[in-house]
Amino acid sequence: MFLDIHELAVHRVPVRKSYPPGSLDFHSTDYKQVEPLNVRATAELVDGQIHIFGTLHTRLELNCARCLDPVLEEVSRDFDLIYRPVSQVPRDEAGQLSLDETEIAFFEGDGLFLADILAEQINLAVPMKAICRSDCRGLCPHCGANLNYEQCGCEARAVDPRLASLERFKLEWFKKH
Ligand SMILES: [Zn+2]
Ligand SMILES: [Zn+2]
Repeated sequence: MFLDIHELAVHRVPVRKSYPPGSLDFHSTDYKQVEPLNVRATAELVDGQIHIFGTLHTRLELNCARCLDPVLEEVSRDFDLIYRPVSQVPRDEAGQLSLDETEIAFFEGDGLFLADILAEQINLAVPMKAICRSDCRGLCPHCGANLNYEQCGCEARAVDPRLASLERFKLEWFKKH
């Protein structure tokens, strides 16, 4: 869906869209969309700027930061955004945009793709890291076993000095007998 300023100049545009998984490009491999992304919004033109406000909802799959198992995250987000035409953005003497691109949203030409707005909103809503459960035990740093499912024994061998000395004692005993 393209938000065209010529259409917005005539009337507000209601947005009711559902994007199935795989139809939006999030430019990220850290997560994937696993349910339709539903958006309800209103777009309008105010003083030559595109104003879009509404709400979106979907479900994403991330990997647990500790054990790498899949974790489902529900994303519900309200947004209220203003995009200025790039011609309105102040420029420095060299003609470069003088504002940090991250601080101001703008559009070029006749408007904006809704998909780009949504992908950006999802990227902002994704948690920095997901944990499958608060007591996730993660992966063994030695053998990579998922410690939620199995006890690999690496830690006992590597860390417990009492067991180590017992091992030595047994070895000595076998040598002597
Ligand atoms: Zn985990
Ligand atoms: Zn291990």
